[in-house]
Amino acid sequence: MNPVSTTDVSEKADKIRKILDDLYPEVPIPLQHQDAYTLLVAVVLSAQCTDERVNQITPILFAKAATPADMVALGVEEIQRIIRPCGLSPMKSKGIYGLSKMIVEQHNGQVPATFKELEAMPGVGHKTASVVMSQAHGFPAFPVDTHIHRLAARWGLSSGKSVEQTERDLKAIFPEDTWNKLHLQIIYFGRQYCPARVHDVKICPICSWV
Ligand code: SF4
Repeated sequence: MNPVSTTDVSEKADKIRKILDDLYPEVPIPLQHQDAYTLLVAVVLSAQCTDERVNQITPILFAKAATPADMVALGVEEIQRIIRPCGLSPMKSKGIYGLSKMIVEQHNGQVPATFKELEAMPGVGHKTASVVMSQAHGFPAFPVDTHIHRLAARWGLSSGKSVEQTERDLKAIFPEDTWNKLHLQIIYFGRQYCPARVHDVKICPICSWV
């Protein structure tokens, strides 16, 4: 890939943002939830699982336990039994139980609103914390999943060296007040337009000109 100037990149970024705004003026949050806690649990469940599957399982789980205290009372084994269809259930059930216990014992039953406190919880990495900060607490964040990471590199917005680098690059390129919407728009675009198989880039609304 040829090196591109900062101006080229920011013009390209503006154009991509306009296309995404036209395609996705509204960006509903894909994971169903009622509050910050249920969103946090849903995001933990979504690792290597589709949002559709998570949205099928969370109503069953939250009917039994929709608060951290109730989740602790439910216990790891029962959590694991309910969430098994989401995959990785031994690890995810321990994470959900552990983070719920921590919220009860250290945060008065409320999901904390700092990256440091969120990332100190079992099962919560930077991406999960970013989703919660962004979608539950309204804090500007840019959660980068594998799709955003791949597309940012494909569109020449980042070197694609690491997820951390992609997050830094996208935050530097796009205005802060667009981050929360943009990360969802890119996810929606990736799901709709970017098939896993080989395809014709000439008909793509973005890759046809980047
Ligand atoms: S060509 Fe379009 S559909 Fe394919 S990866 Fe690029 S953005 Fe996605």
